[in-house]
Amino acid sequence: MGLEERLPSGFLLSTVEELAGFMRKGSLWPATFGLACCAIEMMATTSGRYDLARFGMEAFRASPRQADLMIVAGRVSQKMAPVLRQIYDQMTEPKWVLAMGVCASSGGMFNNYAIVQGVDHVVPVDIYLPGCPPRPEMLLNAILALHDKIAQTPLGVNREEAIWAAEQAALQS
Ligand code: SF4
Repeated sequence: MGLEERLPSGFLLSTVEELAGFMRKGSLWPATFGLACCAIEMMATTSGRYDLARFGMEAFRASPRQADLMIVAGRVSQKMAPVLRQIYDQMTEPKWVLAMGVCASSGGMFNNYAIVQGVDHVVPVDIYLPGCPPRPEMLLNAILALHDKIAQTPLGVNREEAIWAAEQAALQS
């Protein structure tokens, strides 16, 4: 029998890390940031039909300093890349990035000199969401997957270094 079952009802056992993860995942503040057609589906996700507010994040912030989630919704042009990086750098820590759609994830069908072939060339990406465009339900699913990742992220870990290290390990394997 586990310790929780031995305790009288009304007790909840947890750790500070789990508590912090629980609160972080339930209070994401996405940056207002749309680049192309995928942004229309991102905006639809906030509508009453899909009700993003259920997950505590209906308020998109116009200032990156008030945001901790960047949803890259659309293709990233070479000219936009430094701007995107600057917005990312201005966001508060801890912060997360979701690449929405094939264009943001890999350049998609725009395999040409003008388009960055994946936003992970510019910023570290936590979640890749395929589709052209992904439907609002798919974005909600990706956000819930990100919630799981946030909840399991230990305190004090440099997320950017962890992502780069995982990518290097995947390249070498
Ligand atoms: Fe537009 Fe499709 Fe690219 Fe999204 S993935 S930005 S819908 S072309």
